[in-house]
Amino acid sequence: MSNNQDAKEWEETIFSRIIRQEIPTELLYQDELVTAFRDISPRAKSHILIIPNKLIPTVNDVEPEDEQALGRLFTVAKKLAAEEGIAEDGYRLIMNCNRHGGQEVYHIHMHLLGGEPIGPLVAI
Ligand code: AMP
Repeated sequence: MSNNQDAKEWEETIFSRIIRQEIPTELLYQDELVTAFRDISPRAKSHILIIPNKLIPTVNDVEPEDEQALGRLFTVAKKLAAEEGIAEDGYRLIMNCNRHGGQEVYHIHMHLLGGEPIGPLVAI
């Protein structure tokens, strides 16, 4: 049981509306487990978000039954990196958790960043 399992923290975010295609976004991939779309505020030439369709607020809330959907994030990242033409040069996958991780949207998401050198892992 994590600290996030209260009513407030489990409220839907804008990402639930993107999954249901209720708001416009550049949807790149969707299946029964995950959805991928371009980040609205790209931090690299290619900046894609890949998210589980199930609302999981943070990595702290992940359960064993989520392993299939979370594994799918990686196979979709690989597919989209190839489609973007950035697989060979490389890219970075990031998942932020809570305040110190810089998480802004409380529906876990994998950032796929590439298309140019991404820089150091942590700016110091
Ligand atoms: P994080 O800081 O890891 O929680 O990342 C949240 C990301 O969601 C940020 O990179 C935002 O630019 C992105 N974002 C927020 N709202 C939208 C939206 N409506 N469509 C696409 N990306 C979004």
